[in-house]
Amino acid sequence: PDTRIANFGAGPSALPESVLLEAAQGLLNFENTGIGIAEISHRSKEFDAYIKATATLIRDQLAVPPTHDILFMQGGGTAQFSAVVLNMLARHRLLHPELPDTERVLDYVLTGSWSKAAHAEATRLLAHGAATVHVAADSRAHAADGKSFDGLPPHAAYTFSRDPVLIYYCENETVSGTQFAGVEGTPTSFPFHLLPSTEGTLLPLVGDYSSSFMSRPIPRLADHAIIYAGVQKNLGPAGATVVIVRKDCIVDVDAAARLGGTHVPVPISLAYKPFAANDSMPNTPSVLAVYISGLVLKRSKALGGVAYYEQVNRRKMQKVYGVLREGAARGVLVPKVREGEGSWMNVVFGVSGEGAEARFLKGAEERGMKGLKGHRSVGGIRVSLYNAVTEEWTDQLVTYIREFIEEEA
Ligand code: PMP
Repeated sequence: PDTRIANFGAGPSALPESVLLEAAQGLLNFENTGIGIAEISHRSKEFDAYIKATATLIRDQLAVPPTHDILFMQGGGTAQFSAVVLNMLARHRLLHPELPDTERVLDYVLTGSWSKAAHAEATRLLAHGAATVHVAADSRAHAADGKSFDGLPPHAAYTFSRDPVLIYYCENETVSGTQFAGVEGTPTSFPFHLLPSTEGTLLPLVGDYSSSFMSRPIPRLADHAIIYAGVQKNLGPAGATVVIVRKDCIVDVDAAARLGGTHVPVPISLAYKPFAANDSMPNTPSVLAVYISGLVLKRSKALGGVAYYEQVNRRKMQKVYGVLREGAARGVLVPKVREGEGSWMNVVFGVSGEGAEARFLKGAEERGMKGLKGHRSVGGIRVSLYNAVTEEWTDQLVTYIREFIEEEA
């Protein structure tokens, strides 16, 4: 453990040390089976019970209602860019078989590179006309420079379609560092009150929670059709994706295909139904990633769940944004996101002056802090404050940033 450093990386990212020590034991001997977790059959009664218990830990801590199933899938967030389109399109076709394909519309809210990537995948899959893709809001249109994802769209900018196939948003943009606020009704919260009525069917709202999952409660969770998150930020190692899906969105994709017309075939590994029908194991799941996620979830439950993390993460975020404001006032640091629209999990800013960014990173590394380099597409610094990033690490970083400001100012 004393060889480890403070890891502020954006993902895969820090995991609690106690969990890693426990997992090291599990690699040798999973629950007294005499077989390690990377070696045991996913059909063993021990793992079968474990994956079910892990889903229950998520259900209890996020208060997921019985209307929704919790699945573990593979392919990361990227596979869900496709899966949400394919499953929700099949649902829409089964709900409205008579509708011409030109009237099937998917709404995307663009707030950063990840929602942009999801929108690009929908456009690619639907290029042959099975449905059309509509941009319901794009924060770049409201940016200070007219082109960056530096904030969230104002409520007046949203143009939702009537009865869409899905309404897609990314709750926390890991690269640009913006996040929808939990406070409903503020001009830049997610505009739940503007969502369209959907002709007696349930709302097809899809949220990418990859980089904020389990960091605080999810507002209006029950109103979502799908919430998904790759586990590699707050839960575990890369390899598993949690998908919380309302039961009316778990459809028979083959029945939708039999309707004929323009449809997009659904790879069986992306269809929700076989996962829901087989406790996430129609095939071999990502056993190790589910295992470590389960250990993290047990630990977070003991600590007080998402309510506990909301408090801790709020304090961490306030400390970092606080020192960022100090640095901006002194002309040393440059915020990249509008005040009040920044992410709790990924704080993104620049350092002004010739060679200053490299000096910042070097100084941090000399003090045992890594993972602070911003994403290559936006540059600068990115401080990720996931659940396993401790308050002590955060204080250490804030102290360093304050010293750096004094030196550079
Ligand atoms: N969505 C968000 C918000 C992400 O941060 C990421 C990856 N960091 C993805 C989607 C893509 O996930 P993956 O790399 O697991 O495909």
